[in-house]
Amino acid sequence: MYRVAYENDKMIISFNKDLAESDALAKFLGHINLQSILKKSKYADSKEKMKIQSRLRDFPTGMALLRDSGLNKGAAFTDEERDALGLRGLLPPHIHSMDDQLLRVLTNLRRLPSDLDKYIFLNGLQARNKTLYYRALLENIEELMPIVYTPTVGKACLEYSNIFRRPQGLFITANDKGRIADLLMNWTYKDIRIIVVTDGERILGLGDLGASGMGIPIGKLALYTACAGIHPATGLPVTIDVGTENEELLNNPLYIGLKQRRLRGQDYDELIEEFIVAVQQIFPGALIQFEDFGNHNAFRLLRKYRHQVCTFNDDIQGTAATSLACLYSALRIAGGELKDQKILFLGAGEAGIGTGDLTVSAMMNEGLSEQEARQRCWFVDSKGLIVKSRTDLNGNKLRYAHDHEPASNLLAAVGAIKPNAIIGVSGKPGLFTRSVLEAMARINERPIVLSLSNPTSNTECTAEEAYTWTEGRAVFASGSPFKPVTVKGKTFIPAQGNNVYIFPGLGLGVLATRASRVPDEMFLVAAKTLVEMVSDADREQGRVLPPLTRIRETSLAVATAVAEVAYEQGLATTPRPDDLTEYIKSLMYVPEYRSYV
Ligand code: NAD
Repeated sequence: MYRVAYENDKMIISFNKDLAESDALAKFLGHINLQSILKKSKYADSKEKMKIQSRLRDFPTGMALLRDSGLNKGAAFTDEERDALGLRGLLPPHIHSMDDQLLRVLTNLRRLPSDLDKYIFLNGLQARNKTLYYRALLENIEELMPIVYTPTVGKACLEYSNIFRRPQGLFITANDKGRIADLLMNWTYKDIRIIVVTDGERILGLGDLGASGMGIPIGKLALYTACAGIHPATGLPVTIDVGTENEELLNNPLYIGLKQRRLRGQDYDELIEEFIVAVQQIFPGALIQFEDFGNHNAFRLLRKYRHQVCTFNDDIQGTAATSLACLYSALRIAGGELKDQKILFLGAGEAGIGTGDLTVSAMMNEGLSEQEARQRCWFVDSKGLIVKSRTDLNGNKLRYAHDHEPASNLLAAVGAIKPNAIIGVSGKPGLFTRSVLEAMARINERPIVLSLSNPTSNTECTAEEAYTWTEGRAVFASGSPFKPVTVKGKTFIPAQGNNVYIFPGLGLGVLATRASRVPDEMFLVAAKTLVEMVSDADREQGRVLPPLTRIRETSLAVATAVAEVAYEQGLATTPRPDDLTEYIKSLMYVPEYRSYV
């Protein structure tokens, strides 16, 4: 990350501003450099020393250092650091190791009464000491991911205005037209490589939460760091607040966002366009991840920008890769090839259509024509089975409208289509009813049931329902986590079919190669690579995805496969290293304290 050399008695540290670097890191490396120069007697009492001392002031000391969450180590600052950095007396005298601090964090966290309290607690830690926050997250990912992400992040977004303590992320509003570049320049860190942006219109399955949707980009970026080692200072959470249609928020005196109806049409498009252009100016080449936009904007914006800039939509493409990986992996348990399956989607929105499209591509790779592949993917939306005779269908749904008798609900559709797999992406709870699951179990020896809607309160069925109502024969995964279930003496560990298995690794691969675009092939290889990470032991327990405890290893494998695509397609803008995996691994941020003196 940096090189040390000596020139005429002077220590020179040069920074390689690669992925793992941040402005904060550069600042403290600069500090080490200047301090070591100061120590050289040659400069003592010279003008040079004064110059250096004044530059040293750039590195925060005293209270400012304790308030810098990227640099703060709290009670872990050493004696030497306390003297050199003006911390003496500002901290309690005992010097604690990071392990001590971690123990304190976990003890305090675990005695909190609710998950929302835990979310608030962890949020506070993130704002105080990022290194400790990421260490806690990384080492306890199975316990803490449901707190920093789904399902608790859903509760946090619903309560965002009420629990608001300090600003996080960048708020760009409809009133900022003409000055978005200035807002981006206001951000603390200048070396931004990933932006997760939402306009808050469709937060998880919870609908329009306006500016309260900020919890989502913050949570996703935390997962980028924990799961794939993307340096926290290189990620920027953004909420584009164009208003909300949510009456409850509009009437809440504590609501943090713009109290107006949503901007639509040309004004909305111009604001988004200005944002995209401003990002290219201020953070050229940064990967822009669209997150939780309303259906009508999500597809449109993806189509518009995916061939212009480095961008993807996680709800459409990330979900598609995760769901496809679940399907491939489930077939290793249930038997059969993807091209021979009939798949019935409940929900024809971003997640459903995105997965349908990627599944069609995957089936075409197995030898089917596009038409044959589409014929194997069926959709049920709120009005029933999507068939040609319906007159209410839009462009995306029309592509999957087949010549078939109408069916007014899911149970009727299951009876008529006899699918091998059902995928729930409706955002509506309880729609995989007992009758539906029993019907699936009658049709298939091993029915594949993916209940992907988030948060837990919106899941189409619980793990217990899926296993019990199919007599333990379902191959199951869910969007939000569920505890193990025992049926007929066998214990099943349901996998969490969540995008977290794809987007962090995909982002790492894109960043490592500084790829200029994010083509579909990246999602396809990401899905296939993910399946390879599932072991026989995992499958034995009914898991279709690897445990979250192996997420860094999994993300590294996904990143390497994605980077290969970037090189193959000529999208990479950095030279190919000899050992791609080792190179990417070397870029991954490890939350450890560094010595500042
Ligand atoms: P969306 O609004 O774009 O689509 C929802 C679809 O469900 C629409 O087609 C709608 O017509 C349909 N629908 C609504 N009510 C229905 C009903 N009663 N019966 C049948 N269909 C119905 O939303 P989306 O982005 O596709 O997300 C849908 C759900 O998937 C959300 O709950 C979201 O949290 C979840 N999701 C999960 C993951 C994951 O990683 N597991 C990723 C993305 C989205």
